[in-house]
Amino acid sequence: MTRPTSTNFFLDNDDLRFQLSRVDWPTLVALQEAAFADEDGFKDPAEARAFYEDVLTNLGEFIAKEIAAHEHELDAQHPVLKDGEVVPAARMKKILDQMQALGALSLTLPRRLGGSNVPILVQNILVEMITRADASVAAEFGFYSGIGQALLFYSMEEGSVEMKDGVPVKTRFDDVVRRIAENQEWGAMVLTEPGAGSDLAQIKAKAVLAADGNWRLTGQKIFITAGHGDHHIVIARSEDDKAHPGLKGLSLFYVPRFVDAQGKRCKKTDAGARKNFELGGVEHKMGQHSAVAATINYDESHAELLGQRGHGFLGMLMLMNNARISVGFEGIGTCEAAWRMARAYADERVTMGKPIAHHEMIADYLDEMEVVIRGLRAITFDAAYHEEVSARLKVMGKLKPAPEAEQAEADKKIRRHKRKARALTPLIKYWAGEECVRQARMCMQIMGGIGYITETGAEKILRDALVIPVYEGTSQIQALMALKDNLQAAIRNPTRFLSELATARLETLSARSDLEKGEARLRHHAMSAMQTIITRIAADKLGDVRGRPLAEWKSAFMKDWNPQKDFSFGLLHAERLTKLLTWSAVAETLVRQSNDVKGSADYEERASLALRFIERFEPRARGVVAEIEATGGSLIGRVLARPKRERGAAKAAE
Ligand SMILES: Cc1cc2nc3c(=O)[nH]c(=O)nc-3n(C[C@H](O)[C@H](O)[C@H](O)COP(=O)(O)OP(=O)(O)OC[C@H]3O[C@@H](n4cnc5c(N)ncnc54)[C@H](O)[C@@H]3O)c2cc1C
Repeated sequence: MTRPTSTNFFLDNDDLRFQLSRVDWPTLVALQEAAFADEDGFKDPAEARAFYEDVLTNLGEFIAKEIAAHEHELDAQHPVLKDGEVVPAARMKKILDQMQALGALSLTLPRRLGGSNVPILVQNILVEMITRADASVAAEFGFYSGIGQALLFYSMEEGSVEMKDGVPVKTRFDDVVRRIAENQEWGAMVLTEPGAGSDLAQIKAKAVLAADGNWRLTGQKIFITAGHGDHHIVIARSEDDKAHPGLKGLSLFYVPRFVDAQGKRCKKTDAGARKNFELGGVEHKMGQHSAVAATINYDESHAELLGQRGHGFLGMLMLMNNARISVGFEGIGTCEAAWRMARAYADERVTMGKPIAHHEMIADYLDEMEVVIRGLRAITFDAAYHEEVSARLKVMGKLKPAPEAEQAEADKKIRRHKRKARALTPLIKYWAGEECVRQARMCMQIMGGIGYITETGAEKILRDALVIPVYEGTSQIQALMALKDNLQAAIRNPTRFLSELATARLETLSARSDLEKGEARLRHHAMSAMQTIITRIAADKLGDVRGRPLAEWKSAFMKDWNPQKDFSFGLLHAERLTKLLTWSAVAETLVRQSNDVKGSADYEERASLALRFIERFEPRARGVVAEIEATGGSLIGRVLARPKRERGAAKAAE
């Protein structure tokens, strides 16, 4: 027994293709094709979509035949560092060469630079399918066109772009992007240091503006996926610590692997080319074996500033938002692999007179896995769409500013899309990360003893999955972001919050259908948990808040604010609140989608999926709300009451 066979990872996945059909392609394609101004581009959204589906169909077959079929080899091979260079895992190298030949590594790059100008959403669908086959290939795949795309975005953001007839014709990174598109070069996203992972304010790598007007960057970075690439986007401290402490002192840099005698970026094969930084090692990891995670040592390395000084964290967030959505797709691909393997085994394995798939508990596991995957995919597609549309609208506004009134309208649209993407991104990164680990474990459990045996590949799915809740911001960091954004919005506008809470409560009884009532119940649970958290924080800070006018809350809340202490109750329950917000977002999306397809052949199945989700998660949400209401006081008391000596020691260690 091993992974169930498939000849095409796109065509065998009806739910994936349903989500693809729900995307607002006319809007996305018009932005992607610069309102169809490019002579070499598609002429209408239908032509573009047919092309994207061809790409997905062809690569769906490639992924099944050439990646999934070699998953054990990919697991057995490790990249190594030899004479300062990475020797890649042989199968990984072969797969990436094949993908390069198929144009799969440059899909999202512009046509004029050798790419296919495909939306990032399509690339993300590939990430899901590749992860289903092997997570290490997906991990490296993202650092080809993803890095090229990011450099182009930065160039457009800072305004270093030449335009002709409303279309960008030249950026400062054209040479780099062309090399990525044509030569199997790639890049890396370089943040983490031995003392700075979740807490980027601790970054020590330093960039100094030398007398010759060029930047030199020094410091060590660790765990860098695809760090043996030629094009690094690095965050480092560029400003004076005292004047610009923490995140404010960070800037973003492009650091090439090879430079010429003048320190200018160049190709490895150019005369006089020399290395601009050294690789310090390649990690031995528990999973994703074929992918490189490298230590990088920069020593007075030549660097080029991206965007404005001191705006590095903001710039990195743009890259991180996309990367987090992409990791959401990795999580879905992992769940899909686990669920399919478990289902195939459960159909075959007979105990006590019937296949285990027909024993109630196993049937429940399998049903839960399927419902979660499909709910997760629905919100992840939404997040990806809104992130991409907001980014493209923003770039378009910069490159081709519209008359004032139109631009104001466009800015409103950008804010609306960005708000949706920002609300969903931490939820999907959180839930995809947590669920893929849980589903990999469920798959092993469903397979019994044989799941523990290496040849089946079940334990590989779990090993590969375990880092997904860690990289690109851990689950806890996602939960902190979701907590902060939601509580801030409620505190800023308590009247609106309370009116939305009342609406949710009313709709649990008065909504048009049972599905909508169920959705309202999940929304109400999330909002009442927020109310509990806010009331508790307010009570801790202000004494009893009952009877105080709402208008007074905001000013009283913000006065003498100490986020470390005052927010404790919220911080303690951040993950619980994130679960509630996620389940509410999934219910909203599934019910909306089922309403949208009313009258079509898809309706019955989509309505039944929404109902299955609500039936599973509404009672669970009630339990989480009860946990928030009932727990916390004594734990916070104990943590905050740690002896001063202990706290002092922890501070000294920082
Ligand atoms: C295989 C692999 C690939 C990677 N690829 C890259 C890459 O390409 N580029 C890159 O820059 N980095 C990369 N990383 C690094 C990764 O992003 C970090 O490991 C991750 O962000 C966590 O940072 P840390 O390891 O320093 O953990 P820490 O920040 O020390 O966190 C340790 C634990 O404490 C929790 N924690 C921290 N702060 C809080 C808080 N305020 N409240 C509650 N809990 C908290 C965390 O959630 C975590 O559980 C990679 C790591 C691995 C293992």
